Amino acid sequence: MSASGSRRLGVPPTPGAAWDRSGAWASIPERLREQGLRWTPQRRLLVEVLAQTDGHVTGGELVERCREADTTTIPSTVYRTLDVLEELGLIRHCHGVDGREEFHVLPETEHGHAYCNECGRSWDVEVEEVGAMLASFQERRGFEVDLSHLTVAGRCRDCRGAGGTGEAAVE
Ligand SMILES: [Zn+2]
Ligand SMILES: [Zn+2]
Ligand SMILES: [Zn+2]
Repeated sequence: MSASGSRRLGVPPTPGAAWDRSGAWASIPERLREQGLRWTPQRRLLVEVLAQTDGHVTGGELVERCREADTTTIPSTVYRTLDVLEELGLIRHCHGVDGREEFHVLPETEHGHAYCNECGRSWDVEVEEVGAMLASFQERRGFEVDLSHLTVAGRCRDCRGAGGTGEAAVE
């Protein structure tokens, strides 16, 4: 081991690296101001609600959760703030099978989604699972796939299992 003295202490997180969640949230007021948005109680409430959110959440659900704490919540303020938070990389949207926007809070890795048409559950699809498809689009079409916009619908193992060995469960 050479003591090269290259200890990287206090280096700020680089884009794409795993984020320190609390650090990312702490810088929001300042970053919103840089985008020309005032740090208002409604925006603070939305950020607090987001910080307590795991997984996926729709804009409508966020408006509802904000309304529980503040009945004067204005939906357009929530959506406008969501847009800016996405530009800042703090949240990311994808689309459910019905096309409805869903938001991820601080997504650690880009991923797609699989939805079961029967039970309505959803799962994250990792890049390793669809690597062959991504490579094929790249090679044949020169097309770079936005994995977070990949939404696949079908039937999950549990729902298929309920009808026997993969046979359709007829009602
Ligand atoms: Zn979209
Ligand atoms: Zn299912
Ligand atoms: Zn997801």
